[in-house]
Amino acid sequence: MSNPLDEVASIAADLRTYLDVHQSLGARWSSADLPVPTPEPVPEPEPDEAPVAAAPAPAPVPVPELEAPPKPAPAPAAARPPATPTLPSISRDLGDCTRCRLHKGRTNLVFGVGNPNADIVFVGEGPGYYEDQQGEPFVGKAGELLDRIITNVLRLRREDVYICNVVKCRPPQNRDPQPDEVASCSPFLWAQLDAIKPAVVVGLGRFAVQTLLKTDTGIGRLRGRAHPFRDAVLVPTYHPAYLLRNPADKRKTLEDMKLVRAEYAMATGKDLGSVMTASQARGSS
Ligand code: URA
Repeated sequence: MSNPLDEVASIAADLRTYLDVHQSLGARWSSADLPVPTPEPVPEPEPDEAPVAAAPAPAPVPVPELEAPPKPAPAPAAARPPATPTLPSISRDLGDCTRCRLHKGRTNLVFGVGNPNADIVFVGEGPGYYEDQQGEPFVGKAGELLDRIITNVLRLRREDVYICNVVKCRPPQNRDPQPDEVASCSPFLWAQLDAIKPAVVVGLGRFAVQTLLKTDTGIGRLRGRAHPFRDAVLVPTYHPAYLLRNPADKRKTLEDMKLVRAEYAMATGKDLGSVMTASQARGSS
């Protein structure tokens, strides 16, 4: 079939047949809806023009609107990016945890407290007696000292920062958590840090610092500088309970907190208020 007009007519005829078949199968339209194309006459080439190499493209045959296209199927769950955890969702996942033996001796699971968007997170080792009783971290004597460090040196309130522990249940007689206990519990700590996205993490004491930095180097060698830590920095310092027994090392803790202030200012562009003088601090307590 060499005449382009014949080709157009043939395509239109095929299409009408196709539509009629579909109508007989229940479609709501028919070839009667199809406009019959009125072919334009093909101009004869001028005698001195080169012969036409290819016929002009036939005018598109309008096709009546078909059924609405099917909606794309929702992506399977596995293909979706994992939802960012939130502190409530992490707490729900932890639930009434029995993943390690520490649950047997606990009164309360101690998840953590404070600002879910804190720039500074304090991480201790695990709940002690009072924390276990109250379900809140650092509420005993060591907690009172930590509060004074936060208010007098960092010039923040306890509720401005976030406070949690490596393990969420009190180890018997406040012993160090054992490796399998840390392995069961630490994913929840990592998730908490991922949810909060702090600029500065303060590791309180040897155990927390070594767990966070995955090292067995002693705290004396680790403290005094900020360590790169995930998307933040980690500043190691002495545990407040250790400072209660060794008050001479409070001076070193003050240096560590100055480092926290500097790292905080660098990461957030915000300055904390000036450190309280000793007499101001006495007046405030
Ligand atoms: N010591 C810790 O390490 N954490 C607490 O919550 C209390 C005391």
